[in-house]
Amino acid sequence: MYYQKEQECMPRSELVKLQSERLVAQVKRMYNNVECFRNRMNEKGLKPEDIHGVEDLHKLPFSYKTDLRDYYPYGLFASPLSDIVRVHASSGTTGKRIVVGYTRNDLDLWSDMMARQLVALGVTKDDVVQVSFGYGLFTGGFGAHAGAEKIGCLVIPNSSGNTARQIETMIDFGTTVLYCTPSYAMYLAETAEQMGVIDKLKLRMGIFGAEPWTEEMRQKIEKTFKIKAYDVYGLTEILGPGVSGECQYQAGMHINEDHFIPEIIDPETLEVLPYGEVGELVFTTITKEGSPIIRYRTRDLCQLIAEPCKCGRTHLRMKKPQGRSDDMLIIRGVNVFPSQIEEVLLKSGNAITPNYQIIVDRVDNTDTFDILVEMSSDLVASDIKSIVDIQNKIKADLRTILGIGANVKLVSPNSITRSEGKAKRVIDNRKLV
Ligand code: ADP
Ligand code: ZN
Repeated sequence: MYYQKEQECMPRSELVKLQSERLVAQVKRMYNNVECFRNRMNEKGLKPEDIHGVEDLHKLPFSYKTDLRDYYPYGLFASPLSDIVRVHASSGTTGKRIVVGYTRNDLDLWSDMMARQLVALGVTKDDVVQVSFGYGLFTGGFGAHAGAEKIGCLVIPNSSGNTARQIETMIDFGTTVLYCTPSYAMYLAETAEQMGVIDKLKLRMGIFGAEPWTEEMRQKIEKTFKIKAYDVYGLTEILGPGVSGECQYQAGMHINEDHFIPEIIDPETLEVLPYGEVGELVFTTITKEGSPIIRYRTRDLCQLIAEPCKCGRTHLRMKKPQGRSDDMLIIRGVNVFPSQIEEVLLKSGNAITPNYQIIVDRVDNTDTFDILVEMSSDLVASDIKSIVDIQNKIKADLRTILGIGANVKLVSPNSITRSEGKAKRVIDNRKLV
């Protein structure tokens, strides 16, 4: 079933017809099964019968990341829990993770979509695919794994970490295709170069995603590893990786439009913008059973390309996301919201003040993550042990909430520059776009 070029090359009119049928069915199903969606429809005075096709999409209510938090963990599922066969999760805005569920059919479609991109890039059952995305609640590992397995590749479920061992695996197991985040790919490439083993690799291609990366970074990875590097995009709320992916022309990522309808909106006025304009990407899932979602505001700022692609696929392409319409940072592949950090600091008592600054940079292809926090004058006047204890407690609390470690530095009162307007809490020195 994975070879779906026909479905990817449908004439636009046929595709819209298919999307419309699927949308109408999805809205009905969600109205009956998902309380949050039904309430929103009722607030707008809308009934499922008012939705006749894609032309009515703009009438439907938006969904937000906070919905997944408010209905945590299973409240947005549209299928009974007994039909859910897997869950995945990602960071939410305030501590609580967001959880999504997949039915058996959802997993099948997900692997089809991942297989699509592999096939488009010429990957066959003779390839050896190393998955160095993390396995676990994060969608990357399992998502990539299933697609490669579906077309019969030899799959190495390496997961991330242990760089020397990753490279040993590539050499010994004859890896030809690598899946991981672009920053990790760069790190692996430079390590392999330093070890002098690039020529021992059979690697010919890498598929990288889950975080922003630049064209320059692509060129650097391609040159160091002597491979072609392709982009894959996704988010847990919609699917995980595989919402869209590049074909061999590396000219934007084809969106799996028979499963997801994209829109670009103005994040301020919420007006739907024509193709080609920059705005916030919004997705509606039309085939998902477990965690379907209507008009989900991704907060990714992006542009859709409607012009035909040289590969013949008619599915719209999206450019690399150019930033976010909220303040979410992606640090070492983990979603981090400044509000999560603020929450921990505010709960840390009077020893510190709520003046803080987050400084992110990229050194040797790894994100550095420093948080400066001003001490209160009482803490400054106390002994060094109290200071170290407070510092360690904040570090531990942050790790629990964020899922990654931060370098917390307690600084003297009034040492963080005050701004006259909105406080500049985040300094991101990485050049991501
Ligand atoms: P995942 O990390 O599985 O892709 P998350 O839900 O944790 O999913 O994070 C999704 C976010 O990651 C997206 O909304 C987007 O901001 C970012 N992202 C994912 N893939 C890419 C990509 N190829 N390029 C740029 N940003 C990406
Ligand atoms: Zn193409």
